[in-house]
Amino acid sequence: MTNTRVIVVGAGIAGPVLAIFLKTRGYDPIIYERLPSPGEGGLSFILQPNGLRVLSLIPGLLEQIPGHSPDRMIHCSSLEGKEDILVDLDISPDTMRERFGFPLIGVRRAEFQRLLINTAEKHGIEIKWGHQATEFEQSENAVQVTFANGIKDIASFVVGCDGLHSNTRIALFGKEKANFTGLAQCGGLSPTPPALRGKFAMINNYGNGRHMISYPVAEDQWAWAITTRETEVKEDWKTQHVEQQNEIRRGPLSDWAFGAGDLVKTGQNIVKYGLYDRPELKSWFKGRIVLLGDAAHPTSPHLGQGANQAFEDIYHIMRLLKKYNPSASQPSTELLSQVFIDYQDLRLPRTSELVRGARQQGEARVVEGIDACRVRDEKIRIVFHDDAAKMAQSNLLSGPFKDSEL
Ligand SMILES: Cc1cc2nc3c(=O)[nH]c(=O)nc-3n(C[C@H](O)[C@H](O)[C@H](O)COP(=O)(O)OP(=O)(O)OC[C@H]3O[C@@H](n4cnc5c(N)ncnc54)[C@H](O)[C@@H]3O)c2cc1C
Repeated sequence: MTNTRVIVVGAGIAGPVLAIFLKTRGYDPIIYERLPSPGEGGLSFILQPNGLRVLSLIPGLLEQIPGHSPDRMIHCSSLEGKEDILVDLDISPDTMRERFGFPLIGVRRAEFQRLLINTAEKHGIEIKWGHQATEFEQSENAVQVTFANGIKDIASFVVGCDGLHSNTRIALFGKEKANFTGLAQCGGLSPTPPALRGKFAMINNYGNGRHMISYPVAEDQWAWAITTRETEVKEDWKTQHVEQQNEIRRGPLSDWAFGAGDLVKTGQNIVKYGLYDRPELKSWFKGRIVLLGDAAHPTSPHLGQGANQAFEDIYHIMRLLKKYNPSASQPSTELLSQVFIDYQDLRLPRTSELVRGARQQGEARVVEGIDACRVRDEKIRIVFHDDAAKMAQSNLLSGPFKDSEL
């Protein structure tokens, strides 16, 4: 009997990880990616214990993750020339491991994506670059996908891991406009400045009308991103022109304290991108096609959960495939419906709540006017001692399982 063939659309972050799980559980996945090759696009994100818990199920992967763990989480305010530390917490790898079993790791997206792609290829998974999925046609037992270059392929089922601008989502539920959150980020990568040498902290700087996050992604490199209110800016992860980059390097943000200004002054590959999410869907699948990761629940980045929630999706969809199709045989549409209904019933409300939470976090961080900023700073001081907030954070980082059912 031939293995059940699965088309995974998108070789971003979720696609390669899903394909590895499918392959090691007896399926025959193939990945189709729109871009011609793995790019250098994007900046960085933080892998959190809930995401790492899922990745730990792929033997040997965690040890190879390129990046750096922060030791402390610092929130500081710079208002009218006055600097103030609002919060300073221990988030060292030892402390995080003791509480959650896994640390936090700051990674450059491109480097991390390369690791995932190499790992997928080592598992014998084929990745077809330069294939943009455009059309999906379902029959009783299969789905035919057509790509922009005219090539077609058929599989038993399709998982759309094609991100914020997902064609799979459009094919299932029609076109809708992504919601611009009113906020944009500009960010870059910088060599570790003297003020931050040996200080491996995740630093949140709050100013009037702006917020900046920065953290190490290597011994000698930091990533940073500044959020401001803007009229609409595209989300295409393209590096700014040299002049625009210089303007940012020389701009008012380069005076910030706590090493933040030094990061801005020395920023490389500075990008500017709008922050978007999408309205909650009523369903994530139709027949033999299902959405996962940003294709299903794109989010603004303020909770740092985009990639981590995609990994939680993968854990649950694999757990449900195992439950309803333990032999990984050719599934009927009814069997797939059982898997996809349970998956969406569990994940849709949870991720919608996090998308809303991330939006609220962005709104709370970027406030204008000195009085409003003082109120914000005071709230930040308090919230890290709030029992309900601590419990919510602990629940988030403890997901998506205690003992794996895979
Ligand atoms: C270039 C890029 C840079 C990013 N940089 C950052 C960052 O610095 N920080 C951050 O927090 N988040 C970043 N993100 C978003 C982040 O990767 C996701 O939020 C998260 O990791 C969830 O991953 P995903 O696989 O669902 O989506 P993504 O990582 O966005 O991956 C989607 C993939 O699908 C591909 N694709 C899209 N349409 C099609 C199609 N029709 N056919 C085939 N393939 C298709 C895309 O090219 C992409 O490779 C970036 C996304 C991209 C695409």
